Amino acid sequence: MAVADQNLHRAVVEHWVRLAVYQRLGKDLPQTAAAPNPLVVNVSARHCHLTQAAVEALFGAGHQLTPMKWLYQDGQFAAKETVTLIGPRSRVISNLRILGPCRTLNQVELAYTDAVALGFEIPLRLSGNIEGTPGGMLMGPAGFFEMNQGVIRALRHVHMHPDDAEFYGVNGGHDMQLKIVGPCAVTFDKLLVRVDKAFKLEVHIDTDEGNACNLQPDTPCELIK
Ligand SMILES: [Zn+2]
Repeated sequence: MAVADQNLHRAVVEHWVRLAVYQRLGKDLPQTAAAPNPLVVNVSARHCHLTQAAVEALFGAGHQLTPMKWLYQDGQFAAKETVTLIGPRSRVISNLRILGPCRTLNQVELAYTDAVALGFEIPLRLSGNIEGTPGGMLMGPAGFFEMNQGVIRALRHVHMHPDDAEFYGVNGGHDMQLKIVGPCAVTFDKLLVRVDKAFKLEVHIDTDEGNACNLQPDTPCELIK
């Protein structure tokens, strides 16, 4: 899941422990431990972002999303509410999670495996860049909402604060590599760097990518410029 308790995230705790150990030993920090922030890698399961208007069409006038679990990025949450996505061949994905808060556009993010199951061909896009992408029908307890476009497979990316960008020597729009070790070791290229003062260091990959390398909470990962 993409969700994690920001106060208890394993990577954050390990980062603190490492810093404390090296400080206690009076040793110089190795490069990864010298990073200003821990590297958190999260797998984003299929989900959607909706406008308030879409939420009201699906759940009723005046309906507000209810946070169920807070995500690692401040202010972002997995909502209690889910919708059903109906694809072009009337195949459906039920329990599609809504991530809040509401946005100014409607977007469904699927893995390629989901798209095959639904009978979609979906393009690989940067989140928010949905011009000319396929649409779909959403169904909620109070009604339907037709999306004319917005079904994508999201480009893998890393969120970072300007301090992280400086440490790794990259800028927004650059590509990095994400190296994942273990029995199913994989190195992903073309990990898009997204920099914002509001961001915490976090990689987002989808379920196809996470399953390909059997990413587990204790799998070591490394960001490479
Ligand atoms: Zn992201």
